[in-house]
Amino acid sequence: MAGNWKMYKTAPETCAFFEKFRPLVENTEGREIVICPTFVNIPAAAKAVEGSRIEIGGQNLYWKNEGAFTGEISAPMLAAAGARWVIIGHSERRQYFGETDETVCMKTVAALAAGLKPIVCVGERLEERESGRTEAVLAAQFGGGIARLSPEQFAAIAIAYEPVWAIGTGKTATPEIAADAHAFIRSQAASLFGAGAAGSLRILYGGSVKPDNTKILMAKDDIDGVLVGGASLDPASFASIANF
Ligand code: PEP
Repeated sequence: MAGNWKMYKTAPETCAFFEKFRPLVENTEGREIVICPTFVNIPAAAKAVEGSRIEIGGQNLYWKNEGAFTGEISAPMLAAAGARWVIIGHSERRQYFGETDETVCMKTVAALAAGLKPIVCVGERLEERESGRTEAVLAAQFGGGIARLSPEQFAAIAIAYEPVWAIGTGKTATPEIAADAHAFIRSQAASLFGAGAAGSLRILYGGSVKPDNTKILMAKDDIDGVLVGGASLDPASFASIANF
């Protein structure tokens, strides 16, 4: 159950969130809870979750460990700041910051080398769905990036299926649409990495997940978790999603 805070919350707001959120998930069993704040708030968030079941992630990284890359953050820096996870290839990064399947692959390899657990995002845009190209887009995103990982690397990632038309729009994919896409992603994983690897792959759904639609999404066999934007910003709302 992962929250993507995007470019929201200052450090004091981050601490205030965890003060309310921690007790609400204290007794949550059998699921991992991850919050991905902005880079500058990772140390404050990591401190705020010490001794709890909550883990912290980054929202992006650069694939080099260090160097003259003004404004970028590396995987070892994220890990040293307290991140355990990192979101890679979010559609907003692909749309506004020119990320490609190739950079997604390089970032994933760099994250894994630093011991971070990548959540690699894939998903089609509205016009791609409407023109019947969803599976072709997912296959291309898979083939262009994820397919280049070694079996060991593949075993350490999670994938988030995030149809772009459902992100921040209030339009959730129906559980059937999401489940179909997840099944397709798992079939791609099976053909590239084998049935065992595909079976243990965790595929999260993301796109307008709210407390009132989590249960019905999570009831689908191929949906193993959720990646939540807007509804992860409020402690009660994200706790209710995590405790669905
Ligand atoms: C996201 O940012 O990954 C996301 C799914 O956003 P939202 O839940 O707000 O649609």
